[in-house]
Amino acid sequence: MSADTLEAVITQERKVVTEIPGPKSREIHERRKAVIPPGVGTVFPIYVDRAHDSIVVDVDGNQLIDVCGGIGVMTIGHTDEAVLDAAREQMGKVTHTLFTMNAYEPYVRVAELLAEAVPSDETYKTLLMNSGAEAVENGVKIARKYTGRPGVAVLECAYHGRTMLTSSMNHKGAPYAYGYGPRAGDIYRAPNSYPLHDGLSGEEAAKRTIARLEKTAGAGDLACLIVEPIQGEGGFVVPAEGYLPALYTWCKENGIVFIADEVQAGMARTGTMFSIEQFGVKPDLVLSAKGIAGGFPLSGVTGRAEIMDKSLPGGLGGTFSGNPVSCAAAIAVFEQIDSLNLLDEAKRIERVFGDGLCQLQSEFDAIAEVRGKGAMLAIEITKPGTLEPDADRVQAIIDYAGKNGVILLAAGLYNQVIRFLPSLKMTDALIEDVLSVLREAFAATA
Ligand SMILES: *Cc1c(COP(=O)(O)O)cnc(C)c1O
Repeated sequence: MSADTLEAVITQERKVVTEIPGPKSREIHERRKAVIPPGVGTVFPIYVDRAHDSIVVDVDGNQLIDVCGGIGVMTIGHTDEAVLDAAREQMGKVTHTLFTMNAYEPYVRVAELLAEAVPSDETYKTLLMNSGAEAVENGVKIARKYTGRPGVAVLECAYHGRTMLTSSMNHKGAPYAYGYGPRAGDIYRAPNSYPLHDGLSGEEAAKRTIARLEKTAGAGDLACLIVEPIQGEGGFVVPAEGYLPALYTWCKENGIVFIADEVQAGMARTGTMFSIEQFGVKPDLVLSAKGIAGGFPLSGVTGRAEIMDKSLPGGLGGTFSGNPVSCAAAIAVFEQIDSLNLLDEAKRIERVFGDGLCQLQSEFDAIAEVRGKGAMLAIEITKPGTLEPDADRVQAIIDYAGKNGVILLAAGLYNQVIRFLPSLKMTDALIEDVLSVLREAFAATA
């Protein structure tokens, strides 16, 4: 079915026609259990038939509002026509050659677009890979090659992926690293800035982070400090003002490569192409993935030329890395961000959705904080009057919303956060509908 037809068939409205999950989803779910291991996980056992913009249609014909977007991937909305057209056109030409074997132009174009998107006038070069974790792995490789040092500094609440190296970089041992050891070495974790819980200014929080790293790693042993400017899985934690610039200055003074992991926060989601722009930092390396290619697998490591140029030919890459269809889709995503003014749309969503969440906060004292930027928003749920996490309430609210046709997702070290990752095309009417279901969910779970 073409996107044109999808647009006609899938109206942008919530419609619950069966119990959710419905009989067809439940039947497939039983088949799944026989052939797919539980380690693959099931957050919400509906099975998707098709999707357009902000609406997902399951195999039972229910229309659900997607406020998760495959965890921040569908920034541009499902089945965007321009993205599908670009991918189809590329599929009709060539689908694989291996870029390092026989190159193609779309890879070069994506690298140009990423270099333009970095908030700096210096020369930036890009390596394309397939997944966010691969971008992180390669960012670390590149930083180590450049500095000749082994150490990797990460923050509390961080999430960087599920490969052997990145699972060792995550804060949560279980389920990501527990039992899969030995874990990778030379990784040093330091406190982050988490204003709701630490009450520290950016400067104070940075002092604490730096003191920890100087004590545990020693600045001279560190190749890189990797930060998510707004933490994703960690609960959409926005650092206090001045925190990231202070860390950046310390990195510069000590020859440490500053890596911004923008896998979740990047690609226009927060109202700028990369979220780090809003913190006034010009990172050495920027990692992108998730939203970059409208659902096709692609990731990038974009970095200052002098750092990127250190690796020997053949030292970076992989068979499928920078696939031409994914690259064509990514180029269309960049063009759509521009022509549909999606950076402004992110700000609209922050206003409409953010205001609605603040209104809910005034009605329900379980909401300790509303935070985030653009279309990356969250609420932290605690036992009323305390900062004690309330994961049960979060789960009950998510379950209620799911049964009523709204796809939500938890986050946070204690699963005490509900995160919202709407498409930048989500209409105000849909946002209002999500807020009304949330209001019911809070009331029903009080
Ligand atoms: C999702 C995520 C990753 C890992 O990306 P994958 O494509 O799942 O490997 C890395 N960093 C951040 C910040 C992420 O949100």
